[in-house]
Amino acid sequence: MGRVLIIGAGGVGGVVVHKCAQVPAVFEHITLASRTLARCEHIRDDVLALTGRTIDIAQVDADNVPETVALIRKVKPDLVLNVALPYQDLTLMDACLEAGVNYLDTANYEPKDVAKFEYKWQWAYREKFEKAGLMALLGSGFDPGVTNVFCAYAQKHLFDEIHTVDIVDCNAGSHGKAFATNFNPEINLREVTARGKYWENGQWIDTEPMAISETFDFPGVGPRKAYLLYHEELESLVLHLKGLKKIRFWMTFGDEYLTHMRVLQNVGMTRIDPVMYKGQPVVPMEFLKCLLPDPSSLAAGYTGKTSIGCIVEGIKDGKPRKIFIYNICDHAECFKEVHAQAVSYTTGVPAMVGAMMMMTGSWNQKGVVHMEQLNPDPFLEKLGQHGLPWQVKEL
Ligand code: NDP
Repeated sequence: MGRVLIIGAGGVGGVVVHKCAQVPAVFEHITLASRTLARCEHIRDDVLALTGRTIDIAQVDADNVPETVALIRKVKPDLVLNVALPYQDLTLMDACLEAGVNYLDTANYEPKDVAKFEYKWQWAYREKFEKAGLMALLGSGFDPGVTNVFCAYAQKHLFDEIHTVDIVDCNAGSHGKAFATNFNPEINLREVTARGKYWENGQWIDTEPMAISETFDFPGVGPRKAYLLYHEELESLVLHLKGLKKIRFWMTFGDEYLTHMRVLQNVGMTRIDPVMYKGQPVVPMEFLKCLLPDPSSLAAGYTGKTSIGCIVEGIKDGKPRKIFIYNICDHAECFKEVHAQAVSYTTGVPAMVGAMMMMTGSWNQKGVVHMEQLNPDPFLEKLGQHGLPWQVKEL
């Protein structure tokens, strides 16, 4: 039994609160805090209506360490669960260290003015967390998150040596809008407009954005064209998978999405540097975010499925083996259960399960820790029980 402080009342935050509320034996007391109190109020009322549980809410600016420390001291949580934006990762880790509380997030730190995902900023906190006897669990969403745990499971149970991993992410759903992003628009567009990168034979290979594509047969969805992107879990997995020769990340995009992206990029709307407009500095990407639909507003009426997993190749008992380990998630089912779409759901459920692992002591490693460094078995058992069943298919 414990207390959790969830920070960030967006699409993912809503799912995390609902899923924690469904497990009162672990999450005895829940507080949701975010920048805009009205969004916390909306989630609180929805959770009360669907689960009958009452949660506490608070307003906080997570960029402000003293303000966050004061909130943590007041709430006295066992864990701070960060589902605000990657920009808040370091200030929240600072606040956790100062208040002596464990930390969990779903996306790695990014500085606001450089679209760059690298763990170096968060790895720099390793010794501080170790010395404080605290745990910071990084990337407990789906990808990163479940995909890291799938790799750990493959390494533990299915392979003697892993040679190649392809992480493949398909959202075959339809929200009926001409253009929208399924999670925070600014973070999503920064990710997909960045240069591609993959790892082979000990080296990182850089590619033009969206320059490489391949068709994969996604379980539950069928063949879909996916594009090679750089994704943060590659950076930790190359350190933790034995014998690895190649690892890549792929994501599918519809033609409409790609056309909109190209136009927005060509006219400069995805720039993250300020431009002067009527004497005021305006960051085009931030302005664009204001115009696009809020990801949580896509949930009602969203149809279709997501299919995300890892295709792993290697050796087992002296023979070559290739498997696909994956989850299929249905947008409409997610809406029925927690009033969210599947991209928020597939992120929020693993965040809750990661928190459950930490709060029950199943995962207890001091320092800054990646998902694949921990025992995959209890996590995957709970993941299946709490809404994201997974399968292994022999290829
Ligand atoms: P949203 O934009 O919907 O929600 C973000 C929330 O954080 C908003 O409520 C926002 O407040 C709040 N917030 C922003 N800045 C602050 C601040 N300074 N202090 C307090 N609260 C703040 O994003 P999503 O819910 O779609 O995504 C949440 C996180 O999940 C992101 O980090 C994203 O990268 C990650 N993610 C991870 C995935 C994975 O598989 N690992 C997949 C998808 C998302 P306000 O309402 O005022 O704007």
